[in-house]
Amino acid sequence: MMLFGAGSGHADDKGLWIADDPQRTAQHLYDPCRDGRLSDGKPRTCAEIRRMYGGTRWGDWPDPDLSLDACSDGRVSDGRPRTFSGLLGSYFAFANTHPMIAFATVYAAAVFVLFLLERYIPYERRWLLSDGETVNDIGHTLATKGLLQLAGLVAAVFPMYAATLQPLAALKFGLWPSDWPMVVQVALAVVIAELGLYWAHRIAHEKLFFWRFHALHHSVARLWVINTGRFHVADSLFKLAMSQIPLYCLGAPLHVFWWLGAVTAFMGILTHCNVDMRTGIFDFVFSTPRLHRWHHSKDLREGNMNYGENVVIWDLIFRTYYNPNRPSSIDIGIKGQIAPGFLKQLAQPFTKEGVRQILGRPSRGS
Ligand SMILES: [Zn+2]
Ligand SMILES: [Zn+2]
Repeated sequence: MMLFGAGSGHADDKGLWIADDPQRTAQHLYDPCRDGRLSDGKPRTCAEIRRMYGGTRWGDWPDPDLSLDACSDGRVSDGRPRTFSGLLGSYFAFANTHPMIAFATVYAAAVFVLFLLERYIPYERRWLLSDGETVNDIGHTLATKGLLQLAGLVAAVFPMYAATLQPLAALKFGLWPSDWPMVVQVALAVVIAELGLYWAHRIAHEKLFFWRFHALHHSVARLWVINTGRFHVADSLFKLAMSQIPLYCLGAPLHVFWWLGAVTAFMGILTHCNVDMRTGIFDFVFSTPRLHRWHHSKDLREGNMNYGENVVIWDLIFRTYYNPNRPSSIDIGIKGQIAPGFLKQLAQPFTKEGVRQILGRPSRGS
């Protein structure tokens, strides 16, 4: 991190400059562009940058009108104030940790409550028994989430990474209605992102090339709150790209992405939980446990339906909505075999033999 007039020092864990002489730190100017300037030409201290990037509660994240240019090209080109367009992941470097901790705490509490409800009012009692996959489930959840964090870190550490996004940034049309109430913006983001999620998910079921990755998620013989995040990292990246790039091009501000992530995280644990809950009319709006159980059915007439991750609007429009008037399926899983062990599961889609096992085809050797 280069600073002008800062003297000697080092970058802290948020990527902010800390001078060796603490007296000077607060006066030092932070230069995210590495050319000694901010986009509006206004110098800012570290403390100000911290305030700008680090909210302490939801909704406090970077101001959409923030004029700091995160420098997709390493320079301030026209001095025009911009939204935080360069890189999605930079907040990992700039935001203080409180929102992350708050989110993680609420999320862990929700998982715990669902875990308890699963024991009191399970939809399927057999699904309370271990399938020997819990460690792998957690491993895939952490790998997928960790990859996102890593992408953010890479984006923050290497500004050149952002330069590769420049053509994307140029696609931004600035159509996003930033002046609408936040709740409406988030609802809009959920529906737009869902279109990408829907097609990524549907393609993953209909094209063998993508199914080889998605099959891991469907290989479970029980549904419960812990296997919500059991996705192959390649599957997750595909979904992420399909769902978030349109929002990025529309110019959605960063905190909308945060809220979208929160909605998706909570809907995920809900759709997978083994709790016998009545969802009634919500089945026509949200992806509920009832609808998602059909999606996990071994019977492909049921399983290749209900692709919605958060909401079901695109299933309704593209005629893949499935909600017959009977209890949803408990006969779930795939016809093929998933490798035992976390690393083998990650590698399996990349070998011919592995793909044959996933598809349930006879091995070459047999
Ligand atoms: Zn699926
Ligand atoms: Zn699922």
